[in-house]
Amino acid sequence: MKSWPPPEVPPLPPGGRTLALFDSARDGVHPTAPEDPARMYVCGITPYDAAHLGHAATMITFDLINRLWRDAGYRVDYVQNVTDIDDPLLERAARDHEDWVVLAMRETALFREDMAALRILPPTHYVGAVESIPDIVARVARLLGDGVAYRLDDGTGDVYFDVSAAPRFGYESHLTRTRMVELFAERGGDPDRAGKRDPLDPLLWRGVRDGEPSWPGADLGPGRPGWHIECAVIALELLGDRIDVQGGGNDLVFPHHEMSAAHAEVLTGHWPFAGHYVHAGMIGLAGEKMSKSKGNLVFASRLRADGVDPMALRLALLADHYRTDRQWTDDLLKAGQERLARWRAALGAPAGPDGAALLAAVRERLADDLDSPGALRSVDAWAEAALSGEGTDPGAPALVADTLDALLGIGG
Ligand code: ZN
Repeated sequence: MKSWPPPEVPPLPPGGRTLALFDSARDGVHPTAPEDPARMYVCGITPYDAAHLGHAATMITFDLINRLWRDAGYRVDYVQNVTDIDDPLLERAARDHEDWVVLAMRETALFREDMAALRILPPTHYVGAVESIPDIVARVARLLGDGVAYRLDDGTGDVYFDVSAAPRFGYESHLTRTRMVELFAERGGDPDRAGKRDPLDPLLWRGVRDGEPSWPGADLGPGRPGWHIECAVIALELLGDRIDVQGGGNDLVFPHHEMSAAHAEVLTGHWPFAGHYVHAGMIGLAGEKMSKSKGNLVFASRLRADGVDPMALRLALLADHYRTDRQWTDDLLKAGQERLARWRAALGAPAGPDGAALLAAVRERLADDLDSPGALRSVDAWAEAALSGEGTDPGAPALVADTLDALLGIGG
């Protein structure tokens, strides 16, 4: 699938730092230790509605990781998927009397535009579920052959994964079984489905139903893939048996990332699948989580159409720490716009305080679990001093501009 055009990343003087990140599995901040290239998989959109600010915040989070690793000298292999076949997409298309393929293509195109406008570095591989179906079929067939997946005997052709095959199941989310069952039901699972070995067993392959699209499944029979196996297989195919970061919003901790890791680990025998499981907080509106079901979405594309500078939007979303669940407000956007204007004015000054010191401070803050609020405060202090004529380093404005662009993605 086509990705989006990359923004330019200006080179910085050497000195990139080791990035430490919070890992949900270990419940703490630990240094990343990638080989070269570093490998990151981020769960992408199900394209049935435009990208809202929660998506934007998540993508900006993983963009920072990409930028920090590059600054530390790594090449980065970054894979993101598009769940371009799944129940929510079909349901929305049916509701709106629209062809599901047209809907998916339109919303994916809009997402790409938003990502390019926000200066998000594109993934190395941007991959749809549909184009991955032959790989998914092969892996599901292997799980069936190994006896760790099973077909329901109700004639549907549905195939499920046996979670008891993953001995460490639960290590990523640390939830009680009761809470797992609740979240599984809330987030697309079917704990009450008759005939399963365990209520938590997730769907791997859905046999064809009347009126639903389907693809050849060889011995599985025609059908379409489940969501968790989609991400596991795409990651394994393109990044290998182990990855450095598995990422997404914190609503993916369970079941999605737990299940994807369990699939990958049973398929490869390697544990853990990801060195870090990294999760971005949710963006709420007026006290509620922004979600399609509540209809309270703020779209990045809508703000852009209203003339909001995407860099101000980016700064507004970087003003709080990525792991914090937070609220989107007009004041937050206004603060982002004012900050952007102040920074741009300071970058136009003939000189400023020591640019190398500011670069070191931004690197240091971001390397500490992406402390973007701390990094922004450092830049604020530099900008204030530059605007009041305190600095004497004539090279500082150019170096600071490159720093903001390369590390924070604030360019233009
Ligand atoms: Zn995923």
